[in-house]
Amino acid sequence: TVSIFWFRRDLRLQDNAALYHALKSGYPVVPIFIFDRNILDKLEDKTDKRVAFIHATISDIQKELVALGSSLEVFYTTPIEAFKQLLQTYHVAAAFTNHDYEQYAIDRDASINQLLQENGASLQTFKDQVILEKGEVLKDDGLPYTVFTPYSRKWKATLTDFHLKAYPSEAYFNNFYNQASKQVPTLEAMGFVATDTVFPTKHLQEELIKKYSTQRDYPAIKGTSQLGVHLRFGTISIRGLANRAKDLNETFLNELIWRDFYHMIIWHFPHVRLGHAFRKEYDAIEWRNNEAEFAKWCAGQTGYPIVDAGMRELNATGYMHNRVRMIVASFLTKHLLIDWRWGEAYFAQKLLDFDFAANNGGWQWAAGSGCDAAPYFRVFSPKLQTEKFDKDLKYIRKWVPEFEGFNYVKPIVVHKDARKRALEVYGKALKKV
Ligand code: FAD
Repeated sequence: TVSIFWFRRDLRLQDNAALYHALKSGYPVVPIFIFDRNILDKLEDKTDKRVAFIHATISDIQKELVALGSSLEVFYTTPIEAFKQLLQTYHVAAAFTNHDYEQYAIDRDASINQLLQENGASLQTFKDQVILEKGEVLKDDGLPYTVFTPYSRKWKATLTDFHLKAYPSEAYFNNFYNQASKQVPTLEAMGFVATDTVFPTKHLQEELIKKYSTQRDYPAIKGTSQLGVHLRFGTISIRGLANRAKDLNETFLNELIWRDFYHMIIWHFPHVRLGHAFRKEYDAIEWRNNEAEFAKWCAGQTGYPIVDAGMRELNATGYMHNRVRMIVASFLTKHLLIDWRWGEAYFAQKLLDFDFAANNGGWQWAAGSGCDAAPYFRVFSPKLQTEKFDKDLKYIRKWVPEFEGFNYVKPIVVHKDARKRALEVYGKALKKV
């Protein structure tokens, strides 16, 4: 009889809540990872950097486990098939895993739990990805918050040392199931190829975080942590990070609270998880959805240098600075009147730190349709944003070197006209309700 531990968005052996509980379950623990074909088969880009990131991380974890006399079992199939195989191989007492708040994950986990129950076992799940989740931070009337500032106040009032305390999984490492090392399938065997991407370090640069409040808004400076990808895949613990953030910089801690906030939102509002506007009246907007303009936006060829710089940074590196994410998202939804879902999907393909909750939250904020969003009449002026946040044009020059020359593309729309059009179209939709 064994316990299974299922790695997902928590790719680390240290300070891992569900792993800790699995190791203390009283049965030897078989750690598993599933390269999920429901997800991978849909990825058109076979050089996807995130698959390579996961693969490299899984291979490192495998080395650690082999050194402990155990082994990861890595599947390349669907989760349900993987669990059917496990149930044939082992007598499973329970499977342990960490919460995932997205729709696909909720459905997947329900079906795995059912399968396990049919076989006399169960799926035990734990909070690990966020600090405070689901119903832990509610308004006094028991309803979820939809505005960030009061949410963050209550979040801080709720927080105790316990929430930031590490789970010492490493104290129980001798409870892993002893077995000979098993193969991790190669990327190539799964149809992917590795690229020479250098991923940001997971080391927290404390000096940088101390200056975060004054530097984080300037895309030409490395003023943010660049930990997004590590938080996305759980290669660092959010508890450890928030613990440091609390002492180093409140503004930085607030960003981690935004992350909890958006995860809480998708949990409480299923229509958001299912792709609808948080404010339903925004689904009445008559988007123009011009495909040629969308292609130019994606390629960084709009003729607006700050927008083009952002999109080119994204395409080249899988990263885009937060300030510029806001600018390009506002431009797509307001200047071009293209449905925010198109931009959301493009970011989902490209961002190394892509996370449904934060991405959806960011897009709906920019489009005006989100909870606590920018008001619909707020149309970012790319020119003013550049003057404020890239006044020396350092960021623009890096990504759009031709922008001062004749061969730079002409602006795709005139700012003043686009702004007027956006106000009309948004205004019309919002009056309809
Ligand atoms: P830092 O500024 O160092 O912040 C540290 C961490 O806090 C981030 O890694 C992230 O986990 C969290 N965080 C910071 N800002 C936010 C925020 N506004 N909302 C939620 N969490 C936040 N963030 C994602 O993690 N994944 C996404 O897919 C994503 N898509 C976005 C789309 C749009 C349109 C916008 C406007 C923002 C999006 N963000 C997303 C939020 C933010 O831009 C990134 O988290 C941040 O730029 C990542 O860089 P960093 O790690 O250096 O962040």
